[in-house]
Amino acid sequence: MENGHKILSNIVATQIASHQRFGGVVPEVASRHHIEQITACINDALLEAQVTYDDLTAVAVTYGPGLVGSLLIGVTAAKAVAWAHHLPLVPVNHMAGHLYAARFEHEFSYPQMGLLVSGGHTELVYMAAPHEYQIIGETRDDAAGEAYDKIGRVMGIAYPAGKQVDEMALQGTDTFHFPRAMEKEDNLDFSFSGLKSAFINTVHNAQQRGEQLDANDLAASFQASVVDVLVEKTIKALDQYPVKQLILAGGVAANRGLRSRLEEDLEKFHPEVDLLKAPLKLCGDNAAMIGAAAHVGYQYGDRADWSLNAQPGLSL
Ligand code: ATP
Ligand code: FE
Repeated sequence: MENGHKILSNIVATQIASHQRFGGVVPEVASRHHIEQITACINDALLEAQVTYDDLTAVAVTYGPGLVGSLLIGVTAAKAVAWAHHLPLVPVNHMAGHLYAARFEHEFSYPQMGLLVSGGHTELVYMAAPHEYQIIGETRDDAAGEAYDKIGRVMGIAYPAGKQVDEMALQGTDTFHFPRAMEKEDNLDFSFSGLKSAFINTVHNAQQRGEQLDANDLAASFQASVVDVLVEKTIKALDQYPVKQLILAGGVAANRGLRSRLEEDLEKFHPEVDLLKAPLKLCGDNAAMIGAAAHVGYQYGDRADWSLNAQPGLSL
């Protein structure tokens, strides 16, 4: 990263193919891939950016939340680089990284709200100022991305299923009217496990009757329920917390149904709020978003020493 905004290189070592046959991420397999690929990733990053270690000001690393084995490998590698080259080490929260993916195309101004939707999180975050995070709503069970992946599995779609379910949903109609959990409740929390169960029961019951359900309609019905709840709770949050900007970030922020519906409802109910969508290419996990978050963290004095450890359950 240069000056927090310019991406010099953004190397992603994907390991999806290794996890696909298990239908989800296997932690031990993920750790092994991290060990095998981290050195090559660092070298590729320097090469593509056309810089050497001498050009660096600081090294940033994600220390949580996530899988402990994978986090530890990143933290250890970053410590080694920082120690060997006498560079400051900047610890970054993975979820702050997701939010900062939106900063490549927009200037941030505060107060600000974030809708963070990913494989492991579904959160509404209020930010009164840079570097200040207050979680005002979150899922009580499954994350939105997790729900996509689980119902995708029932439909025979390879992990991670979100993107394909999204594409199918655009070609179908909401004919099943699955439940909208906690929609009318007076809080900003989410729940997706009831929707997942309703979906799975519908599919299994049809199978038992020997009936074939329309896959696109199933996807559209599931997506309509997820998007309804996400958007309605976000609007409710904006009613309670006046802000200038709303960030949409995390892997599920790539969802086309969610992007367009949020835009429409914001225009209707909170036209004073600017929608800052993370660029499509930076919605899923990537290094650039961590660099952008680190740039701000660095200015606010975030520094780690050699005792930095992985924190799998770290929250914002
Ligand atoms: P976390 O960020 O919470 O630690 P993670 O890093 O595993 O979890 P991300 O990489 O941020 O998750 O996002 C991956 C998730 O996004 C997967 O569950 C995937 O199915 C989902 N996803 C990706 N594209 C889409 C889409 N177009 N529609 C819905 N979901 C999507
Ligand atoms: Fe993520």
